[in-house]
Amino acid sequence: MSIAGSTALVTGASRGIGRACAESLASKGVKVTIVDLLDCSETVEAIAALGGKADQGICDVADEQSVKAVFERHFAVPGRLDFLVHCAGIIHERPLLETPIDEFDKVIAVNLRGTFLIGREALRCMSTTGSGRVVLTSSDMGYYGRETFSPYVASKHGVMGLVRSWAKEFAPAITVNALCPGPIDTAMLDTQNMSPDWRERELDIPLRRFGQPEEIAEMATFLCGEGGAYITGQGIGINGGSVMP
Ligand code: NAP
Repeated sequence: MSIAGSTALVTGASRGIGRACAESLASKGVKVTIVDLLDCSETVEAIAALGGKADQGICDVADEQSVKAVFERHFAVPGRLDFLVHCAGIIHERPLLETPIDEFDKVIAVNLRGTFLIGREALRCMSTTGSGRVVLTSSDMGYYGRETFSPYVASKHGVMGLVRSWAKEFAPAITVNALCPGPIDTAMLDTQNMSPDWRERELDIPLRRFGQPEEIAEMATFLCGEGGAYITGQGIGINGGSVMP
């Protein structure tokens, strides 16, 4: 089974893991629609350079109307959506006793509410055609607790709850899984929301390096292809051994 000619929606695609996923799918001949809070022109150009094709749109995944507008514009009947690869997300590192409720609300809104909104509309489309692959993004922090990251950890555990529930609700027609990356070398690790010593932590990883976004994209594309046909309800660790559940 080739995935060429299929359609995909990739969120968080202006950079990082989302961009790598969009490029990987497009390189296999998938027609991708890419969305982000900001312009995705660089990703569109990179895909064109690969000989691929991409539409782009602006979307705040935490906003219901913004999400619905993307689906109405790009996937309205007779539109077809074969794959969702949902990568948009944010992180904050802060000790609990210094964490304002607004920061908790923001992380839950983007990471968990955003996943619910995007996933619900994608599954609505896939239900009409009776097939599809949903690939969400949790984290290695979707498996375990971590000091100073509790809102992020809670949001990524929540994503795993959606994965396990939707995988059962939409079986056998549609598979639902989550990528669970360990530390990946993207702008997220250098944001001011993270403590500056993050880069020293790669010493804790058995494979002694951070992952690359392309290594996560390989797994997303695998899950959309023939090899992913019998995988559902799983959080797939791509983490250099940082977690061994
Ligand atoms: P990134 O480089 O920061 O990319 C995240 C993208 O999501 C950005 O383009 C960002 O847009 C977008 N975004 C943020 N809020 C959004 C919203 N409300 N609506 C739409 N788009 C929004 O991060 P990344 O490393 O590629 O992370 C991708 C996913 O992997 C996230 O879910 C993250 O939690 C997860 N993850 C990352 C790592 C890691 O080590 N990097 C590890 C485990 C899991 P702006 O540029 O406008 O902010």
